[in-house]
Amino acid sequence: MTISPRPPSIPAYLGLEPKKLFIGGEWVAPLSAKTFPSVNPSTGAIIANLADAGADDVDRAVRAARQALEGPWAAFKPHQRQNVLLRLAELLEEHYAELSLLATHDMGTPVSRSARQKHRIVETLRYNAGWATKIYGDTIENSAPGEFFSYTLKEPIGVVGAITPWNGPLVSPLEKIGPALAAGCTIILKPSEHASIPALRLAEIMEALDLPPGVFNVITGAGEAGGALAAHLDVDKISFTGSHVTGQKIVEASAGNMKQLAMELGGKSPDIVFADADFERAVPGAAMGVLGNTGQMCMAGSRLFVHDSIYDDFVAAVAEFASGLKVGSGLDLSTDLGPVVSERQLDRVLGYVRSGQAEGANMVLEGGRLDSGELAHGFFISPTVFSEVADEMTIAREEIFGPVISALRFHDTDEVIRRANASEFGLGAGVWTTNVSTAHQMARALRSGSVWVNCYAVGDASVPFGGYKLSGYGKEKGIEGLNEYLTTKTVWIRTD
Ligand code: ADP
Repeated sequence: MTISPRPPSIPAYLGLEPKKLFIGGEWVAPLSAKTFPSVNPSTGAIIANLADAGADDVDRAVRAARQALEGPWAAFKPHQRQNVLLRLAELLEEHYAELSLLATHDMGTPVSRSARQKHRIVETLRYNAGWATKIYGDTIENSAPGEFFSYTLKEPIGVVGAITPWNGPLVSPLEKIGPALAAGCTIILKPSEHASIPALRLAEIMEALDLPPGVFNVITGAGEAGGALAAHLDVDKISFTGSHVTGQKIVEASAGNMKQLAMELGGKSPDIVFADADFERAVPGAAMGVLGNTGQMCMAGSRLFVHDSIYDDFVAAVAEFASGLKVGSGLDLSTDLGPVVSERQLDRVLGYVRSGQAEGANMVLEGGRLDSGELAHGFFISPTVFSEVADEMTIAREEIFGPVISALRFHDTDEVIRRANASEFGLGAGVWTTNVSTAHQMARALRSGSVWVNCYAVGDASVPFGGYKLSGYGKEKGIEGLNEYLTTKTVWIRTD
């Protein structure tokens, strides 16, 4: 029997030997040779050194992606692209435990949460595999004087830059890779500098697909690499998930070649509990709608509107539920909430907690940094629940991206619609009611890309997701998600 030099919970992929970039089917060092450390947020330890790609590396990757797009990848028949994605789904199933463990080490998410997401991630690939063989244009009767035949062709949009955040280190890249490959695009993935390790390992795993070099590339780095990709004149599309501030920079950077954009940005989503709600369901539903992934969810229902008649009881029950959640290392199967991703993020969240107190909100459950015993060097924070939050307070307006619930009191339906919509964001919204009329009325009235009734943050590969207003534009998932990676060409043929 050989003795493993490391506990089995530390994947062999981790180590301080600098990681490389995956460009044109090869692992290459960045031209600058620069690296940056990746920190485990549960321990504060450096677990890998990652390549810090510069504009010249981005350019190499774009050239490789262009060559593949115009070369061997264009020759792939739809059924071949379908098979690529079906095989990728199998590979992902095989390697999922390792990838999710890497995600836990890299950004802290509990392995139990990743396990719950497995089905969704794998089925995203199978769903998009199906689309690869079902892409078609239209023949269109026209009234132009003369005899003309007109039809449309659906073509891959081209070279896609996929820029992803840390909070979904596997979901976010794969929700872009699936439809992009189905459509026949080539991809340069630039994962978050806080969660690149699963993406790098995924690229290794994807080598088993024998894709033509350049179809799938991964470059690591931070804003400079992302910015170079967004500005590159030979990138046709950026699919971005992240903060609205970075989204706005990408919109500006994209102007040079008028590249197309899909923007999944942040939110300050309302979650509205009516007096007739199923109390027992709504309490954990509303609480986890904010606290899931330690609050690091773009659609977090972080403005919790509760009807005056149940307000005190409901907020007390939410606080009790939140206080019972176990905060700790994501490797522990009993952990509900892992750490936040970085010390900077921890400080940001604590800053919001202080601002809630300073602006007069009532702290029903006091959260704060947890740093004793095993948690000493990690970025752990327990949930905070504020009541009597007013609409103009900072904690009711800005995205916190941490485990902080702001409970607001409302009295009637028109009032709560007006207040819920009075946000510059419009990503998600929740409604808890047993009245079917209220459910439909609210679903129409709320100005957000998704409305969840008696549930929160449910998602599926076939159902589109995206934002209104400052939460972005473009959709992921469903046929609308596929269409983000296709473009329509019109053909006219004179027939007389
Ligand atoms: P967060 O990771 O804090 O949500 P960002 O929205 O800044 O914040 O990050 C999302 C992704 O955008 C990451 O991959 C990040 O490296 C990248 N990024 C950061 N700045 C830029 C930029 N100026 N242009 C393009 N991408 C960027």
